[in-house]
Amino acid sequence: MLPGGHTRTVLAHEPFALTFVRSEGAVLIDADGHEYVDLLGDYTAGLLGHSERRVLDEAHDAIATLWSVGGLHPHESALARAMCERFGLERVRFTNSGTEANLMAITTAIQATGRSKLLAFEGGYHGGVLSFASGLSPTNAPYDVALAPYNDLEAAVSLIDERLAAVVVEPMLGAGGCIPADEEFLTGVFAAARGVGAVCIADEVMTSRHGPSGLAALLGGTADITTYGKYIGGGFSFGAFGGRAELLDRFDTRRPGFIAHAGTFNNNVATMAAGRVVLEEIFTADVAEEHTARGDRFRGELAAVLARHPLPVSVSGYGSSMTIHARATVPTSAADAAERDPDVQELIFLGLYRRGVYTAPRGMINLSLAVTDAQLRTGLHALDDTLADLAARLD
Ligand code: PMP
Repeated sequence: MLPGGHTRTVLAHEPFALTFVRSEGAVLIDADGHEYVDLLGDYTAGLLGHSERRVLDEAHDAIATLWSVGGLHPHESALARAMCERFGLERVRFTNSGTEANLMAITTAIQATGRSKLLAFEGGYHGGVLSFASGLSPTNAPYDVALAPYNDLEAAVSLIDERLAAVVVEPMLGAGGCIPADEEFLTGVFAAARGVGAVCIADEVMTSRHGPSGLAALLGGTADITTYGKYIGGGFSFGAFGGRAELLDRFDTRRPGFIAHAGTFNNNVATMAAGRVVLEEIFTADVAEEHTARGDRFRGELAAVLARHPLPVSVSGYGSSMTIHARATVPTSAADAAERDPDVQELIFLGLYRRGVYTAPRGMINLSLAVTDAQLRTGLHALDDTLADLAARLD
């Protein structure tokens, strides 16, 4: 019934994607009973690991008393307050996914500026219909998009003029290979866009986990609208876009000419309740800072393992998100990341998988809060062993 046997393309790989039947802590168990240390963390959505009772209890209690109410409810305003306080937003609106959050942020910018041109970056990914991983995808929403190479300020600035409605940028390319923005690039692009009256959109769907309030702030960049998703929903479908009141108040239905923003599940009770407990009780700003530092330390250990082997391998990333690349030097752009050895890349993934460590076929790793130091060591040993085996076979 499911074309290709799945309903989320990124999960497909050869010979077949794993089917999980159980999860606990940072361990996944597949349909054949094999156990894996989960180092993928569901592409950043699984930050909490697989057994966070506080989310389960909160969501359970919330829907036990409020289930599909078709009205406003206190969990929604509580999460809005938590988001605004944590990320320094004046206003926020909820969606069902990061994709929708970006579509609505772009809509806001187009309406606010009366312009239609967008600037995005090669290797950028902002959702299933906003993918610039390999140029302009035929499945993208039909926006008028100009693409600049990531981390190339001069090229970006040359595309910024009075026709621009918005620039949309990830503070670190996520799907594009965990390539962080240079500070000068991010702040320079925002300054140039602001200079022509365009709206600066930071896509922090993956990167809001870094530091106390997201990666853009750590790099010195301040967006007009920021988009969120993934882990904040505690495992439930989630997206949000927020920022300056002047822009977001266009959704205020008391205003003439307001922008309508529909979505049956925008304020669904389970997500709203889970999100508040995630931000205020589990992944607090202090925990986020510690987790970022822990990720940096682990990436250093991983780089040390890679350096022991005579193979073209490197690792990039920031904090708890990173990508192993089958290329000798750390990539700084999508063009670099495209120059990986696809066979070695796949063999690293399969080698880890065979040794009970689950990562993304494209090399991505995201540490969860549940992963133990012992499990991280298991991951490093599995990588060491995989690379030793590969090096011997390729000799
Ligand atoms: N933006 C970024 C940076 C993402 O990584 C993703 C998802 N991988 C999205 C947007 C889209 O989010 P969703 O999958 O929830 O639609």
